[in-house]
Amino acid sequence: MKVLKFGGTSVGSSKNINKVINILNDYAKTDPVICVVSAVGGITDKLLLAGELAKNKDTSFNNTFDIIKDIHFSIVKDLVPNNNDSIMRYVDEKLVELKSLLDGIYLINELSPKTSDKLLTFGELLSSFILAETLKSRNAPAAYKNSQDLVVTNSNFTKAEVDYPLTYSNIQTYFNAAKQQITILPGFISKSKSGEQTTLGRGGSDFTAAMVSAALNVEQLEIWTDVSGMYTTNPKLVKQAYPIKKISYQEAMELSHFGAKVLYPPTVQPVLNLNIPIHIKNTLEPEVAGTIISNDDTNGNGPVKGISNINNIALLTLQGSGMIGIPGFSRRLFETLSLDKINVILITQASSEHSICLGIEEKDAEAAKLAIDATFENEIALRKIDPIILEKDLSIIALVGDKMKNHQGISGKMFSTLGKNNINIRAIAQGASEKNISAVIAQSDVKKALNTLHEQFFETKTKQLNVFITGVGNVGEKLVEQIKKQRKYLKENLKINMRIAGLSNSRTMVFNDDGLDLNHWKETLEAGEKASLKGFYEKTKSLNLRNSIFVDVTANYDVSNLYADYLRSSIGVVACNKIACSSDFENYKLLKQLSLKYNAPFLFETNVGAGLPIIDTLNNLMASGDKIKSIQAVLSGSLNFVFNNFSDKTKFYDVVKDAAAEGYTEPDPRIDLSGVDVARKILILARESGVEMNLEDIENTPFLSDSGLKSDSVDDFYKTLIEDESHYQNLYASAKAKNCQLKYVAQFNGDKASVGLQEIPEGHPFYNLEGKDNIVMFYTQRYPEQPMIIKGAGAGADVTASGLFADIIRIGND
Ligand code: ADP
Ligand code: ASP
Ligand code: MG
Repeated sequence: MKVLKFGGTSVGSSKNINKVINILNDYAKTDPVICVVSAVGGITDKLLLAGELAKNKDTSFNNTFDIIKDIHFSIVKDLVPNNNDSIMRYVDEKLVELKSLLDGIYLINELSPKTSDKLLTFGELLSSFILAETLKSRNAPAAYKNSQDLVVTNSNFTKAEVDYPLTYSNIQTYFNAAKQQITILPGFISKSKSGEQTTLGRGGSDFTAAMVSAALNVEQLEIWTDVSGMYTTNPKLVKQAYPIKKISYQEAMELSHFGAKVLYPPTVQPVLNLNIPIHIKNTLEPEVAGTIISNDDTNGNGPVKGISNINNIALLTLQGSGMIGIPGFSRRLFETLSLDKINVILITQASSEHSICLGIEEKDAEAAKLAIDATFENEIALRKIDPIILEKDLSIIALVGDKMKNHQGISGKMFSTLGKNNINIRAIAQGASEKNISAVIAQSDVKKALNTLHEQFFETKTKQLNVFITGVGNVGEKLVEQIKKQRKYLKENLKINMRIAGLSNSRTMVFNDDGLDLNHWKETLEAGEKASLKGFYEKTKSLNLRNSIFVDVTANYDVSNLYADYLRSSIGVVACNKIACSSDFENYKLLKQLSLKYNAPFLFETNVGAGLPIIDTLNNLMASGDKIKSIQAVLSGSLNFVFNNFSDKTKFYDVVKDAAAEGYTEPDPRIDLSGVDVARKILILARESGVEMNLEDIENTPFLSDSGLKSDSVDDFYKTLIEDESHYQNLYASAKAKNCQLKYVAQFNGDKASVGLQEIPEGHPFYNLEGKDNIVMFYTQRYPEQPMIIKGAGAGADVTASGLFADIIRIGND
């Protein structure tokens, strides 16, 4: 004999009920089966809603009633299209009864727990009857039995306690005499000894099935639901969660107590002592193995079996220096809560006994605070205890596993993982059995916490990076394409799962917390919502994804002003925009501090030398204890391009125009030609070398003509280049006469920095610098004579994009 329980989704549509019927017929070929069913999916909630509306004199309860009616009628019509008169008549009678109950609630303006239970019974009574009659109409050997005749409880309405001896004896008596191969029972509903209708608590159909299994000592209890077993964590919140093959009773109980809704917590108790395994299966995919819950502890895997969460938690904190001296403090506290029927889910007490934290359901919070304040009124007045602190919008997350106690460092790993993602922990509890470590966190952090813990304990090897890119012009577009091309490589070789979760240009922006489809990103972006810098930040923050990285591919001042906000939200920042790092020193310092404080990397390799690893090398030298003595560098790809192409055979104006057309200059070429861009770069290198410096401290000897320096628009500036051609030809002639090359050089000598055009003699490392190349020479304590040299293309969209990409990967490898 087997007991099968089918949940709300499994009987939620005629299509699914047909699947249930196939499964039952299949089983019944060899064994008698008992089938326990829930109400049609969503009906219990709708019944409750209709009751609440009626109680509140809101006539829209009629609409909810109509929906309930339509759902049932349409299921019956689909399942039994012909000769359905008798089923329809029964369903109709039941609905008339339901309607008059709702009208009654409306009239008297009251919904007591007793009436609420009566109301909810309609869900299971209807679903089980429809299933049984459908089976019969198809000539299956089925019979219906109302489990209210079997399951006897006390009168603790909404969650009644079962009288086991009586219930088990009723079940045994009935089934010993039963002849049918298939029996259909409604779950969840019961009756008190005096005949009142009661229920076993939300989700209680599982429990009905467990009691039937235990009373008859069957070989197996099967819970058929809408997922393929008990998962490592809630599959609705963590896409990577997977079904656990085998799990112990204790672990399953612990997971369900801490929120894994797939199993109603009391379900395990009746079958545990009899060693009846519980098999969790998916009605929608019956061929998948599912989860076996049993005593078999050869269930392998790591010490952590699953992670669960309970939402809508409130935390009550009692503290005060006089707490130790209060006689019977704990007894009075828990008595107070128990009298008010307040269930305590989590308790933590500091070893000093100066404070105690209680996690309770949010709905009980106000009542609990009032009751405790009243109990300890005197002590609060005497200031032995502070008034109770109440916090809401919290959740409990719990790691569960029988073998956790044999492994050290699990809680450390749990808390450091949460800490790294800036998830604040409000309270921690570890049961003495060490099967469970739980923490109270903000409800808004739950999804992120479950995902990051799941990655840590169950996916160990892959790290997901969620990238949000602003600015998809020349460089940004290349970056997206590079990421698209490399995703597979990164996953296979570096175990990095890189996804672009947000994209924006100046017009539109799009987000997808599962990662955007990079095959169609341009169309998706085009069709996105209106872009806004603040909106992009707010959305990135509210998605609250782990390892989020904001990538700034603009040259925009307002974007750089938002870095602090991103970092404070623990979102890493990768920028090729130089404005922030070359802004006021206080701002640069603040960003660095925020990065450390919120554990959010701030990387800007492409601020100097595009994709060349200049800042990274400098950071590595410093981190390994070296000291920078001086830096000499050609840091402007655009100026190098200009002076490499300028001669007595070309015109200065034409060469600058060419550089702009190639995308080697900033949109405003004056930023390059005035030396400001190079000054910003050497400033950043000086700062990264540990020196406090500002842009004004950098000596800048301009080479532009006076009118060029004074021009106040880009157009005017270009005109001066034509007018002052002779000025530029003179610079060239002077260098040529000395057999020198013109190079725009940046220097830093440990405390001062300068930029300017220099005549470089033959033989100098800068002399042969070609095209748009950059070169940096680091003279350090360890490289005193022969400098460490980094040289290569220092401008261009492709190399800049790959520099940004390298920064993102650096974060992934962290
Ligand atoms: P039924 O109506 O079949 O009783 P429930 O809705 O009560 O189904 O329980 C199944 C749901 O439990 C799943 O759809 C899933 O959203 C949720 N759930 C939460 N945690 C877990 C978990 N660890 N494993 C599987 N499902 C879980
Ligand atoms: N129908 C009830 C509920 O929704 C019982 C159950 O589904 O197990 O809570
Ligand atoms: Mg359930």
